[in-house]
Amino acid sequence: MVLDSHTVKVLKFGGTSVGSIERIQNVAQIVKRRFENEGPLCVVASAMSGETDRLVGLYKTLSEDTQTFEYDLLVASGEQASVALLATALNAIGVKSRALLGYQAGFVTNTERGRAKIQHMDTSHISQICSEGFVPVVAGFQGADDKGYITTLGRGGSDTSAVALAAALKADLCDIYTDVSGVYTADPRICPNAKRIEHMSFEEMMELASLGAKVLHPRSVEIAAKYNTVVRVLNTFEASKGNTMGTTVGPINDLFESPVVTALTTDKNLALFTLRDLQESENVLDRLFTRLSQEGVIVDIIVHSAVHDGGRYTLSFSTPKDDIRLVEKSLNSLDLKASQVDTDLVKVSLVGTGMRSHSGVAARVFQILSQNKIKIVCTTTSEIKISCVVPASQAETALRTLHDEFIP
Ligand code: ADP
Ligand code: ASP
Ligand code: MG
Repeated sequence: MVLDSHTVKVLKFGGTSVGSIERIQNVAQIVKRRFENEGPLCVVASAMSGETDRLVGLYKTLSEDTQTFEYDLLVASGEQASVALLATALNAIGVKSRALLGYQAGFVTNTERGRAKIQHMDTSHISQICSEGFVPVVAGFQGADDKGYITTLGRGGSDTSAVALAAALKADLCDIYTDVSGVYTADPRICPNAKRIEHMSFEEMMELASLGAKVLHPRSVEIAAKYNTVVRVLNTFEASKGNTMGTTVGPINDLFESPVVTALTTDKNLALFTLRDLQESENVLDRLFTRLSQEGVIVDIIVHSAVHDGGRYTLSFSTPKDDIRLVEKSLNSLDLKASQVDTDLVKVSLVGTGMRSHSGVAARVFQILSQNKIKIVCTTTSEIKISCVVPASQAETALRTLHDEFIP
């Protein structure tokens, strides 16, 4: 039988959803119901909650370098266990199932250890399994490079595995089952007044995810937008009670209202480096940022003061905390030294396509932060977002007050 891949759906279950044997059995019941009612399915699962953290912790007792073959091999093992358990739970309730590692499901990646990118997908094996009436249960977060070495896609990467599989299979949709009932106007665990968003455009979700809302991995949204794969975010625990309300992330629909601010988020994964007294003639900007890009460091904010008398200036830039070691290596190689490295900061961001047609949003943000005596370390804006870096101790207050002001 040849499988008509358009009829396949991809269902992904996150760590909390598969966090215990009882929860795995609950997921197996959801899969069984959907398989019986809707036909062929592919399942993607994360490691049981806390397991990847535990493995990373073990690794870091021996080395801080997470860009190694062994890091990938170790941290990928969390998903190996959870998919084997989930497929066993499915078989036990009469749903024929087969557990697969990422490479067995056709995920071919580049060789960037600890943060590999998917380069190619060969879905022939998975399509074969589906057409034989089995439900494949695929280990998220992992693949293999062209030499067969196991790679991982970066923390939170199982969402990216699921959306990439859905795109490659030209699946009808990709359902991301998690521990909240959709995408909210802010993290509902920090902001008690946050509301569930019914529909979101790829563009807004991409911005929100890359600014720190971990409900979807940023690269999963990028892939969804590129291949026009509609993603639904659903609550595993509500779904088992028959509630399927969630958030649909899809193409822009003219019927969507565009509020000025659709959602807010925070990002704690930030280190701010400051270099003072740089000499204009030393050409630091060019040399340093070339070096950082060669090392694969992701630079976010860059603040460059005006050149003062004597040709001296100050430079600040932010990177994810994981890249601190690589930044220090790059600075050393150029005989430079940061006068300050701040790691106790949080970026608070507001996102909304409505900002395109509204002026004065930044002014309101500054007013609210100043009324609440929140210090702004630096700010960046784009067409549809405003971000302010604030001290970590003030970040949750900043998020809640900005949320309640912009999303009444
Ligand atoms: P999973 O293990 O299912 O992949 P994650 O922990 O990666 O789940 O992502 C879900 C979490 O994302 C939620 O528990 C919530 O705390 C957090 N989150 C952050 N921002 C948002 C938001 N805007 N809407 C919903 N959840 C959010
Ligand atoms: N298990 C991996 C992590 O904790 C991948 C994921 O959950 O998406 O980062
Ligand atoms: Mg996740």
